[in-house]
Amino acid sequence: MKNPNKLNTIDAGLVTQQPSIGNAKLASRKWPGYAPFSVFNPVLPGSCPSSCPKMNLGRAAAHKNVKRTGEGFRNGVRLAALSRPDLRMWGYTHFWRHPGMLEYRDSLPENVSIVASVETPEELNEAESLGWALAAIAVPSTTGYIEADEVRALREAAKSPTPRGLVLCPAQRPNPRAGCADCLLCARQPRKFTVIGFAGHGVGKTSKQLDGGCCYAQQGNVRLHELRAGRTQTDFLKTLSSLPPNALVRLVVSGDFGPFNTPNQEN
Ligand code: SF4
Repeated sequence: MKNPNKLNTIDAGLVTQQPSIGNAKLASRKWPGYAPFSVFNPVLPGSCPSSCPKMNLGRAAAHKNVKRTGEGFRNGVRLAALSRPDLRMWGYTHFWRHPGMLEYRDSLPENVSIVASVETPEELNEAESLGWALAAIAVPSTTGYIEADEVRALREAAKSPTPRGLVLCPAQRPNPRAGCADCLLCARQPRKFTVIGFAGHGVGKTSKQLDGGCCYAQQGNVRLHELRAGRTQTDFLKTLSSLPPNALVRLVVSGDFGPFNTPNQEN
């Protein structure tokens, strides 16, 4: 395989690469320096806690040719994916039950994957019945990583109420040997419903570092990364369309894919 490092050299607009490659969950362990581009979205009510200091602070200038949030953003992603079928994009949503999200998911080309973020094992059956190929489920973690006891607990949880397999995010194991750029499970559409286990955000180390318990997007590398994107962001569609060939794009690093029907916000 050709070393892909040279492909990802653009740092512009709403879309940037992770700044600290060595620690980044997204970055490749196999090819140091190779990482997906990240797309940040405004934090809105509906999926994020109201204590988040970024609540409602959309960056309208960043979305020059798409509306600030909601439908405009989703349409922007779809347009970019259609015009650049070589890009591979993925993101997560807590709005996996919403009919609008189901319709949107089914309208997307194959190079965009959305993962249903469920809260409890009981919701896995429902997500599967709604046609989701991938579901993410979190387990509380004291370290921010999935460790042996947590693996056992998570496997048992995934078996109930329906026995099914569970893939643990390889980038969240102690001493991970793979990052998203190596794994890409979330960017695939497996034929069989697949459950991915993650260490929960906002728990353990993360929550201790955050007043009021907000998410990983408010700290460390992700926060720096988003600030950098905010300083340089220009035009969403133009930026996405100018990415190097075959670039990987992690959608909605902060916020959520949606939201729908939130008060005082466009959908
Ligand atoms: S399962 Fe794979 S693609 Fe998904 S978040 Fe983990 S490392 Fe990234």
